[in-house]
Amino acid sequence: MVRQLADLVSAESPSGDAWAIAHCADLLAAMGTELLGVEPERRVVDDQTHLLWRFGPRVDVLLLGHLDTVWPLGTLAEWPFSTDGDIATGPGAFDMKAGLVQGLHALSVLDDLDGVGFLVTADEEVGSTSSRALIEDVAAGARATLVLEPSAGGALKTARKGVSVYRVDVRGRAAHAGLEPEKGANALIELAHQVLRLEGLARPHAGTTVTPTVAAAGTTTNTVPAAAHVDVDVRVADGAEQQRVDVAMRALSPTVPGTAVDVSGGPNRPPLPAASSARLAARAVALAAELGLGPLATCEVGGGSDGNFTAALGVPTLDGLGAVGNGAHARGEHVVVPAMAERAALVAALVDDVRGWPGR
Ligand SMILES: [Zn+2]
Repeated sequence: MVRQLADLVSAESPSGDAWAIAHCADLLAAMGTELLGVEPERRVVDDQTHLLWRFGPRVDVLLLGHLDTVWPLGTLAEWPFSTDGDIATGPGAFDMKAGLVQGLHALSVLDDLDGVGFLVTADEEVGSTSSRALIEDVAAGARATLVLEPSAGGALKTARKGVSVYRVDVRGRAAHAGLEPEKGANALIELAHQVLRLEGLARPHAGTTVTPTVAAAGTTTNTVPAAAHVDVDVRVADGAEQQRVDVAMRALSPTVPGTAVDVSGGPNRPPLPAASSARLAARAVALAAELGLGPLATCEVGGGSDGNFTAALGVPTLDGLGAVGNGAHARGEHVVVPAMAERAALVAALVDDVRGWPGR
């Protein structure tokens, strides 16, 4: 498993790089074909290569993962894959190439894979625009989706927040800041009003955060800015909050005379509520105990994943079944090597368990 993880990490696959993703997909396809005896279907959407292993005519249990990483090409040159004792590190090792290796090994030890699917997408880190329809198509009607995203320090992820992403564009009017500033309409001042309004949309006690992130304005130091914009990250614990914020975002209106406000974007991922994962989480905890893998912790997190899409379809979904380790999206992300086989065994047991559930 470590050798395969090394190979996958050594094939850099930043989101959006169609060639690098396809190359990494070829590598994973070969690994899976060797382990499972079946080649995956290659689904290319908008140049992005997604892989789908499907055993039998319908998918009752879906394993879900992604190939892309947040690390740009060349990261590997300064931070190559390496191991030190029980720890393996490299760009994308934890999020989530170890999970892919573990998923393939989990399926490889099961005698009967009828009704099992394993979908590996190429654009999870950038909102899954090319894979969402495929994910929903394959998951619809499944009894469960098991998401191989990394754990939170070993804990399974039983709930995830919903995510909305917006861009607020302000248009004003340029003018010379020294000669005739009164003829301008300052887009940056209007943006400042909007940013404070955005802050007011948050309801932290209800789990709703509204975070202005990237902003820019103006062209030169002596010109009244004609344009300004801010990107906004919204996280919600339930769908009603996602809707409330969406309505409020679209109602934003200007304060500074002569400016206009335009809001684009919207909800990306719906929330993954704890109710979606409750039964699977209980089974996972019981199976881990039966397998002698010690007590299994669970937690709720703010980050979204493709599991949010499958949960929104009404498919029971449990996340964080991938790598044990830490540091997703951070330099030094790492995987606990002995846990790779343990978590693969847990996923195998869960797949087997779900296959025995009555059909939906
Ligand atoms: Zn991930």
